[in-house]
Amino acid sequence: MLLNLRPLGERFLKSKIGNGHNAFFWFDCWTPFGPLIKFLGNTGPRSLRLPLDAKVSDACSEVGWLLPSPRSDNALLLHSHLTTIRLPSQASHADCFFWEVNGTKCSGFSSSSTWDALRPREETKRWTKSVWFKGAVPKMAFNMWVTCWNRLPTRQRLHAWGVIPTDECCLCSKEPESRDHLLISCDFAAVIWSAVFRRLSRQSRPFLSWAELLSWSRHASSQAPSILRKLAVQVSVYHIWRQRNNVLHNNISIPPMTIFKFIDREVRNIISGRRHRKRWQPLMLLWLG
Ligand SMILES: [Zn+2]
Repeated sequence: MLLNLRPLGERFLKSKIGNGHNAFFWFDCWTPFGPLIKFLGNTGPRSLRLPLDAKVSDACSEVGWLLPSPRSDNALLLHSHLTTIRLPSQASHADCFFWEVNGTKCSGFSSSSTWDALRPREETKRWTKSVWFKGAVPKMAFNMWVTCWNRLPTRQRLHAWGVIPTDECCLCSKEPESRDHLLISCDFAAVIWSAVFRRLSRQSRPFLSWAELLSWSRHASSQAPSILRKLAVQVSVYHIWRQRNNVLHNNISIPPMTIFKFIDREVRNIISGRRHRKRWQPLMLLWLG
């Protein structure tokens, strides 16, 4: 299995040439051009008159490199590079090998930075900062993260998978329970958001979409800095979802303004727990507004 990973590891394993006795001329990465067998192609060994198993030291004598005149652009580049490095026959120390990730030499092998360089990356989502910010409550940030990916097991999704017979909203029974309905356009959610708006901004009309909710949370004003908006959004989303589960699993229905009281208390507790942080100090007054 490890041998199968050799092509992946090739780009990370570099060698610094000493006396040239250990490094393979064609296969080790001892010049900036990577393995020379790839750089010069399969005809390289014939045109440089060096066998495939040659070591770097086989390519030079006491006085200079033993390579025929270059016949390609890449061979020319190799020749000019070789004039800049010390002749291996004049070095007394052995070649050394090291692991390099994105131009940085690691001390030993670093699995974390290697994985980081290899893993497929997606562009950072614009909403990342609305989810992960300093002082966020982990369980709420996680719930927000799942919600942003639209992966909450709403009844609309469960119904589409054939798990439940109906997709109607647990809180109002008027519309299919999608993320955007449940957390934005549902009458229940609308009551909560208007209570949040009374605290934080003069906005009087409800959010029209999830994107608008995120953009509102990123916005900053003197009476509602972005961090307070993000906090209020995370706590509200968490509690709306929790209440939805309460209705679904425990048949306990609580009016939205009572849920807002929980949200209010939770926001106050979170701010008060972080009052020693400078950025959080003004938030309590702004929230109580
Ligand atoms: Zn609803």
